[in-house]
Amino acid sequence: MPTPLDTIECHACKGKGTHRTAFADLDTVDQHRLADKLHYAGEEVPMQEQECPFCKGTGEEPIYECEECDGLGYYKGEVYNPNRTCAKCGGQGWYT
Ligand SMILES: [Zn+2]
Ligand SMILES: [Zn+2]
Repeated sequence: MPTPLDTIECHACKGKGTHRTAFADLDTVDQHRLADKLHYAGEEVPMQEQECPFCKGTGEEPIYECEECDGLGYYKGEVYNPNRTCAKCGGQGWYT
């Protein structure tokens, strides 16, 4: 794993580090099934704070310099052309 270039706000939890989830100890499919069942029965769905699985509760997502383009966002040895940006990083020069 390369060393992160920097960190950005976690896309999954918007930097909070936690998610509000019903039935946090179940997997996602069961969470939705149970929550729907309670919802249709007119019952309150108990919500819990759960550590964000993407950032492990840090609220941050590491970003890595794109090794395809050395962080340029376009192909090495070429003149910058907005229609030919690096496919790996989408022209940003970094990826998460
Ligand atoms: Zn997160
Ligand atoms: Zn790139």
